[in-house]
This record gives sequence, structure tokens and C-alpha cells, in this order.
Amino acid sequence: MAKTMAVNAGSSSLKFQLLEMPQEQVIAQGVIERIGMNDAIVTIKYNAKSGIVSELEQGDDKEHTSLSKNGSELKYENVLPIGDHEQAINYMLQKLTDLNIISEFKEITGVGHRVVAGGEWFNHSVVVTDSVLEKIDRLADYAPLHNPANAMGIRAFQRLLPNALSVAVFDTSFHQTMPKSNYLYPLPYQYYTRYGARKYGAHGTSHRYVSLRASELLGKPLASLKLITLHLGAGASITAVQNGKSLDTSMGFSPLAGVAMATRTGDVDPSLVYYIQERENLSNEEMLNILNKKSGLLGVSTISSDMRDLLEVEETNDHAKLAIDIFINRIVKYVGQYVAEMNGVDALVFTAGIGENSAPIRQRIIDKLSYFGVKLDPVANNKRGDEIEISTKDSNVKALLIPTNEELMIARDVEELK
Ligand code: AMP
Repeated sequence: MAKTMAVNAGSSSLKFQLLEMPQEQVIAQGVIERIGMNDAIVTIKYNAKSGIVSELEQGDDKEHTSLSKNGSELKYENVLPIGDHEQAINYMLQKLTDLNIISEFKEITGVGHRVVAGGEWFNHSVVVTDSVLEKIDRLADYAPLHNPANAMGIRAFQRLLPNALSVAVFDTSFHQTMPKSNYLYPLPYQYYTRYGARKYGAHGTSHRYVSLRASELLGKPLASLKLITLHLGAGASITAVQNGKSLDTSMGFSPLAGVAMATRTGDVDPSLVYYIQERENLSNEEMLNILNKKSGLLGVSTISSDMRDLLEVEETNDHAKLAIDIFINRIVKYVGQYVAEMNGVDALVFTAGIGENSAPIRQRIIDKLSYFGVKLDPVANNKRGDEIEISTKDSNVKALLIPTNEELMIARDVEELK
């Protein structure tokens, strides 16, 4: 049967999900970490029904291989030397075959790749051709840590699965509908024409997916809705989605802009950056590293980038409390901006690690937004579950919790381009 793989290739890791399409059924998912090291880790989770368990007794290297069972889910894990992405993918495909999840490589008829930067060239997902790959390479200027790794993943899969359709799904393409008045910075115009200096946004696949689900849950066409989607994970971004299109988004030229994140600053006055850089005698690279990796929740709290840790200690730790307050405050300000830009809003949609799992954070955000008519249902907000309406029945503006599913969106795009 035809299967589609959704792939997210990083510089030393590769995440994948294998789906039966068009049934949209997840058959297996996993990750290969520490590619390039002697102790790379391969993890594959799959349903007992889709693979075999007998491997448990036959591990190729008993010391490092393990298979465990949790309910109907099986987990294969192995630690081994893996030199590069191609080797990693080859090993993973071989394991999928050994575990009887696929019977042969060519059962995988489509591979969709997450690509971080699509610039102005890509406003939707595309079949990868030589010219597409060349553009992805050239867009590395906009995402130096991501695009080269994404391109490496595409090339490796193309070599190993030459007959599978290869599709690129860009994080930025959903935001290509923003009007120029929203995406252009008030800088001298020539920087836009010379270097493409503008807002591109990110997390587009997630914002697109949850908007679509919101319209289905609300039973109203996307074309009639004003939504604000809040992707609150380690990276966080907020998007105003009007008529199903991104009207504005909080991330900017890069994912550094917008709300405060786990380790990213979000918006700061650029002159302050130079002021600090000069006094601390920091190189551009060091400064960028501070803004990207040492700021946000981690920087302010001084203890952790993980919201769970901060919530645990906020009553006794002023820094943790301050970090959470700043996080919430930034979000509330962005939502307010977007309500103004759209002249109203029908629903707020919470997604990603914090948005999906933290009832207290959702509550604190919604409580500050009651002025435009959103009312939280505290019982629904504290329920665990998949997709839930967390506003009261009489709330003028709905609030929804929708787990994101970028992999499914990627697999759907592959199907559409087949
Ligand atoms: P993501 O980037 O979407 O995977 O989100 C990861 C982040 O979600 C983690 O760094 C945590 O801060 C946050 N997170 C996950 N679970 C919870 C939870 N139960 N409460 C608060 N934050 C959470």
C-alpha cells in the first residue's frame, strides 16, 4: 500500500512520520539523533498492528538495541555510529523493513520535507526539482542553520528512494499572503529590493493546520472567519488569519522576532542590542547567540527555558514569575494588535507544547482578553483531551485548543501534488 513520509531534517537529527494516505493513518514515527557521532540514537515508535514484535529476541546488537511495549505502541531503540544523513535514512528505512512496517522501500511513494525558509519564491508546497533545490540552497542566507540541513535531507531521500515523489513544504509559505504594509519594515526601501529584507514569519504549516481544524470545529468556512492562532511552544508565534489567509504574524525576517520564547528574546529595540554588544565586547555571532539561545524564559528566569519548571517554582521565585508575566504580557499585546488589525476576532486557537498542555497559561492569557468578549470555561480548560472548545457557550469569541499536526499537513500536501 502507498505510504507517505513527512520529514524534518536538522543538522544532526532527522524526525519522521510514516502515514498511510489518503487514510491519514500514522503507521510509525521516530527520530535519529546525533547524526555524525559514534553514539547516534535511532528511535522508532509504531503500532503493534503495523509491525512485528519478534525483533525483541533478535536485536542486531543486544547491548544497544531495545524494543519495548507500551499498550499497543512498540518502541525500537538503538545506539550506533552513524556518519551522515544518508546513512541515517538508509538505516531507518532498513529497520522499517526489518520490523515489517513496510515490506519494501518502494512502498513509500511520497516524501514531504519541512523546509524552514521559502523566501518570496514559494507561496505553497512544491514538487522538488533541481531548480527548487537550488533555490532552497540559495535561501540558506535566511535560515543558515536550517535550510542546508533540510536540503541535505531532501538529497539523501532522493538518492535512497529515487521513485518517491519529493515535496518541499515551507514554514514561511502560509505567510506569503500578508499585505506589503504588514510584511515590510519601515527601513530604507532599497534593503527590501536588494536583500529581501522583510517579514517572512514561520510555523506556517502549524498555523495553516490549526486554522483549518478550527473552521471544521466551528462549522464555518475559513473564508468567513477571523482567527488568531497562538503557536506557543519552545518557539512561539501568533498569527492573524483572516479568510483562511495569514494577514500578519509575530515572527519576522527570522524566528527571533515577536513574543518572548523559551530562549529567544522576541522583539527588542535594535539599538539596545548594539549598546550591550559594545559594552560586553561581543562579536555579532555571540550577540545573536545570546538573543536566540540565552534569552526569553531562560534569560529572565535565570533557571530554565521550560515553562513547566517555571510554573512549578513561580510562587517562591520572583525571576520565574517575572519570566512568565513577560511571556503572557507579550502574547496579550500581540493578540490585541491582531484584533485591531482584523477589526474583531471569531476565535483564538491555542496550540504547541505550552498552548496544548498548560491550562494555567491559557487561563492567564484569556483572562486578560475578556474586554473583547472571550470567556473561559475553566472546567473545559482543565480537561485533558484532543481538540476542545475551552470558552463558555455564551462566549462571544470562541477559544479552542487544537493540537498541531504539521506532519499530517505535510503528508496532505504530498498527496495533493501526486
Ligand atoms: P514544543 O516546542 O511545541 O514542543 O513545546 C515545548 C515546550 O512546551 C516545552 O519547552 C515546555 O516549556 C512546554 N510544555 C510542555 N508541556 C507543558 C506543560 N504541561 N505545562 C507547561 N508547559 C509545557
